[in-house]
Order: sequence, then structure tokens, then C-alpha cells
Amino acid sequence: MTPFFHRRDGALAVEQVALARIAAEFGTPTYVYSRGALTAAYRAYAAACEGRRARIQYAMKANSNLAVLQVFAQLGAGFDIVSGGELKRVIAAGGDPRKVVFSGVGKSAAEMELALAHDVLCFNVESIPELDRLNAVAGRVGKRARVSLRINPDVDARTHPYISTGLKANKFGVAFEDVLPTYRAAAALPHLEVVGIDCHIGSQITEVSPYLEALDKVLDVVETLEREGIVLSHIDVGGGLGITYADETPPDTTGFARTLLDRVAERGHGHREVLFEPGRSLVGNAGVLLTTVEFLKPGAAKNFCIVDAAMNDLARPAMYEAYHRIEPVAAAKAGVQASIYDVVGPVCESGDWLGRDRELAVQPGDLLAVMSAGAYGFVMSSNYNTRGRAAEVMVDGEAIHLVRERERVEDLFRNERLLPGA
Ligand SMILES: *Cc1c(COP(=O)(O)O)cnc(C)c1O
Repeated sequence: MTPFFHRRDGALAVEQVALARIAAEFGTPTYVYSRGALTAAYRAYAAACEGRRARIQYAMKANSNLAVLQVFAQLGAGFDIVSGGELKRVIAAGGDPRKVVFSGVGKSAAEMELALAHDVLCFNVESIPELDRLNAVAGRVGKRARVSLRINPDVDARTHPYISTGLKANKFGVAFEDVLPTYRAAAALPHLEVVGIDCHIGSQITEVSPYLEALDKVLDVVETLEREGIVLSHIDVGGGLGITYADETPPDTTGFARTLLDRVAERGHGHREVLFEPGRSLVGNAGVLLTTVEFLKPGAAKNFCIVDAAMNDLARPAMYEAYHRIEPVAAAKAGVQASIYDVVGPVCESGDWLGRDRELAVQPGDLLAVMSAGAYGFVMSSNYNTRGRAAEVMVDGEAIHLVRERERVEDLFRNERLLPGA
């Protein structure tokens, strides 16, 4: 547990606020974030960047609640976005669109136009057809678009296959053998300005070596391009740094970022700006999902602990068999026997589980906290089974802020229409 999620007299608290109080006030399921934890995670990157030419671009798809974006914007962060909708969130949260890099394999012309209108820092482009589309859109609106190519360095990030992105077989990035011709094509387009290079090799990476391997390949490309007269001013090393969910031991953030910055400097590229695009490592351990035990259902093969949060609230276990620690919120009570449970939700799918084979001493009505739920939690939630999405709360010291209301059922079918006639 981090210093921001801790036990006070045995009961789980976020900063100065007992989680039980949040459940009493806002109900469950509810996501609870710690402003202190978000800030500390950002400062761990910022410490490494101090005195260097470096930028932190929060990859906001990990958690795009406006209040979360606001915290990072106030700390000086830029943002890595993957849609026009995310750009509108940056603006709504008070972030600076000129500090935005626009990633993603399938940008529409409308999204490009929106991003150009807001003068984003750079487009991370992944293919020649995308370069052509961006060139056409920029020409039409009378601008030059700054571009960086996302290259696929073909390195194994040694993470879950669903969240590995830097291998040949992945859909992401320009294939390594096509990188030089693609840069030449970009440099020849009149409405583009080639400014950078980008790679992002995967997510939940717990070792530095795949990053160094990818970075060396990226720097080789930068050097080759420079000999051809294509000079890049920035190097974007992507995101992907892992966090501790169970017993993973990812490198410490500041040390990790310094290692990459040092390698860039050692190879003689210290005059270029380095961009980091962290998502999970900024938010993952700054949030929990608070849920209530509805029923205990003992069985011959398995015991089930049925809770009011489900796969529609937190998809990661169903989607990636991801592990989240699950903690009782209250202090241990005398006389409640521990058993081994699968913690499951009410959704009609066998895949609807949050944790398997967990030893818990709980009774119906007890609160549980699903830990490390700040990244890829709420943002991946859905309305499956016509379940309204959870509330989101931000704790800041002793203060409790509701940062997203619980969705009401009427909201869920507000945009639907009955057929005409009786
Ligand atoms: C998702 C993503 C990130 C962030 O990944 P994390 O594993 O959450 O750090 C960064 N850059 C790009 C291009 C992404 O798609």
C-alpha cells in the first residue's frame, strides 16, 4: 500500500478520509482517487526531468476524468491523446492544447482539423496514408502540421500479449524496415513539418532493458536521418512503465526516467527534447474501486463472494485476467471466519470476476476495496446489463470531492427511441 492508501485503527483510509465514510456518503460501487498519490507519481517523473530537455505527456486514456486531468495540468503536464474527444477533455480541464501530442492509428480528418485548430504540439503518425491525409487537411486549413513517426522497433517488452505493442505482429507503428522511406515521404509533403520520432512498446513493463533496446534503435534512426538532412528535434520514448499490482517490482520511476535521459545524452543527443508518455504509472496506484458485499454463496467447488461492482465497472480481470488486490475496508472483526472466495459481480457472464481464490473474512454488507484501480478502470467501464457507471470521488487531504456523479438508469436510455405506432 502507498502512503496515500493506509490503515487507521485497522480501517482503510485514503489520505485523511476513511473509505467507509465515502461509501456512506456516495454509495458503491465508487472509484476513489487520491490527489496526493497522483501528485507524487507526477513528481517522480518531474524530478528526473529537472534541468533536462524533457516533457511529461500524460497518456490520458488511462484515466481521463476531468479532475484528474486538472491535477496534472496544474502540475505542468502535457497530454498524450488518442482521439478528438480527449482533446476536448484537455481543454475542458484547463489543460494547454499546445502541449498535446496526438497518437493513435486511425485519426479521422475531422479530428486532425480540430487538433490543428488548437495548434497541438505534434501528431504521432503511423502510416503513409495517414501522412497523406494529414498533409491534405493541413493544406486545406492553411497550416503546417508538426509530425513525428511512431516506429515499431520490434522489441519484446515481455508483458501480456494484449498490451504488447512493439512487436512486428502488432498493428502499431511503422515497421522498422519501412521507417526511412516513410520519413522521406513525410519530409517531401509540403504541409508537414517533420519534428520527431516516437515509439511505445507496450504497457505494464517491469524492466528497463526493453526500453533501452528500443531507444538504441530509435537513436540509430535519428542518426541515419540526420545524415540525410532530416533533423529531428524530439524523441518520444512512449509510456508503458509498470506498477505493482501484486508482487511485481518495476523500476523506480525517477531512476527509470533518468536512465533513459542519460542514454540519450551519452549517445550525443542531449540537445534533443525527450518526451515521456506515462499513463498507468501516473494513476494506477492512485485509485481504488470501492464495493459492497451483497451475498456469500458457498459451493462444492468454489465459494463466491458476490459484490456490487462488476466487469462493466472494472474490465481488466475479465479482459486480461489482470490481478488486483482486494482488501476488506473495515478492521478485522472477531468471530468472522475467513474462507477462500472468488469475488464476482452481478453481471450475467462467467467472465464477470474481480478476483479469484482470495482469502477473505467478510459478511454481507461489508465493504471491499479493489486496489490499484486508478488506471484503465473507470475509462473502460460500460453500461452492460444496463448498469449505470460508478461514481468517482477525489480525496485531497481531508477534503472529499465528487468528480463524477453516479449514472442514473434514465440517463442510459435517454438517447434511444421507440418505433412509431402503438
Ligand atoms: C496507452 C499509451 C500510452 C500509455 O501507456 P501506459 O502503459 O498506460 O503507460 C502511451 N503512449 C501511447 C501511444 C499509448 O497508446
